[in-house]
Amino acid sequence: MTAVDTATPAPTTPLAPTAPTTPDTSAALTAPERAAAWQRLCDSAHELAERFAERAGENYESGAFVARNLRDLTDAGITAVNVPREMGGFEATLEENTRLLRIIAGGCGSTAFTLAIHAVLTGSLRSDLGAAVRERMFTAVRDGAFLAGPFTDEGSGGNWVRPSTVARRDGDGFVLDGLKHFATGYDAATHLVLTAGLDDAHLEPPFNLAAFFVEKPRQGIAVTAPWRGFALPMTGSHSLALTGLRVAAEDSVFPDGLTPLFVMARQQWGHYCFAAVFLGLAERAYALAVERTRGRSTTAVGDLARLPGIQFAVARMRSSLATMDALLTEYATRHADPGDDLPAFVADTCIPKYFITNEAEHVVATAFEVIGGSGIRDGSRIGQIWRDVKAGPLLPFTNDLAREHIGKATLGISPVETPRWL
Ligand SMILES: Cc1cc2nc3c(=O)[nH]c(=O)nc-3n(C[C@H](O)[C@H](O)[C@H](O)COP(=O)(O)OP(=O)(O)OC[C@H]3O[C@@H](n4cnc5c(N)ncnc54)[C@H](O)[C@@H]3O)c2cc1C
Repeated sequence: MTAVDTATPAPTTPLAPTAPTTPDTSAALTAPERAAAWQRLCDSAHELAERFAERAGENYESGAFVARNLRDLTDAGITAVNVPREMGGFEATLEENTRLLRIIAGGCGSTAFTLAIHAVLTGSLRSDLGAAVRERMFTAVRDGAFLAGPFTDEGSGGNWVRPSTVARRDGDGFVLDGLKHFATGYDAATHLVLTAGLDDAHLEPPFNLAAFFVEKPRQGIAVTAPWRGFALPMTGSHSLALTGLRVAAEDSVFPDGLTPLFVMARQQWGHYCFAAVFLGLAERAYALAVERTRGRSTTAVGDLARLPGIQFAVARMRSSLATMDALLTEYATRHADPGDDLPAFVADTCIPKYFITNEAEHVVATAFEVIGGSGIRDGSRIGQIWRDVKAGPLLPFTNDLAREHIGKATLGISPVETPRWL
């Protein structure tokens, strides 16, 4: 999910999240109830990760979609963790979302990434939506809804705040036309958050960005290219054509002109939930390497664990994972709110995503080396992880965008200043 990249001044309306109606705290869990519920969620996530790893063994090569896994996550209450407290929900923190995603990624990267998009949408929108759309979204999620977020257009790439999909006003709603490039989890989704650019003359990109929360439409939307992927092959990230797709005015998630600002103010959800998936993959790769090495001997070496190369590799991986864990925990705990300086906040949120998705690749490559040639055999878990971890740096913010935002913030250059370079 990319940040605003524009020379257009922001509208003067202040960034004021629509306050939810007064919380009904009678529905909220007490602290001991919440602690017990959290333990149950973690236990279920661990059990499911084992099951998902078995299913990945059967389905990874064929790229079969993980619908069964998503049903299991719904049955275990994991897809509903972000339901607000006053609606009787668990209202998981961002840090708790990252913990669950790491556990699930240990079993299946595709399932964890598909869940991550649902988690980002339900977690980040919890505080910012108008009362009616919020009630509609979280009642559905509480009742088992699963959300997909096809934002990236064929014509926009990672710069999805400047969509090529167009929303034209029509009566009391909008008509959407365009090509969505990736729709992870579309097959299992009950609801979508769709983005498009309003064709209003007074709203210049990216302030014409709009987002709509809709039940999965029966008409006006079709899969044009079924997903095949080298990495995360079981995510079902199909391409979609929107053709005259009608949405209602009340499906609009944010006030006109303010969507990019709301998106920036919630960038921590995307960055940290995605980072968690790739950290979870690296953690599993490390565990596999240690398991494979302990007590293993060959005709030449009595105990592979006694080799310095193996010991150094294990030490490097462990130190790297501890650093990533500390970084993600610190940022996911600290960044509940954006504060006053939105561009500096967005740049800061790039740091864990940039560091972890790239560092995770190094850990997985080292684990592969420690495991040795058997890792290349068909159906090996480390082989699946090696492929999946490649997707991390490609997801928003991509490496280039992250480096630009972090570098400019550090050097005191506004990310919206033009010309962008020199
Ligand atoms: C498995 C998978 C599932 C996905 N699922 C979804 C989904 O459900 N919903 C969704 O919306 N998207 C999804 N995506 C898309 C993802 O958001 C995009 O891959 C990402 O936004 C990058 O876009 P792109 O791949 O089209 O690359 P591009 O944006 O075309 O980028 C290509 C290269 O150009 C560079 N570049 C492009 N624009 C700029 C710029 N402005 N400044 C600096 N450098 C730039 C990039 O860094 C990159 O190196 C998914 C991707 C994958 C791999």
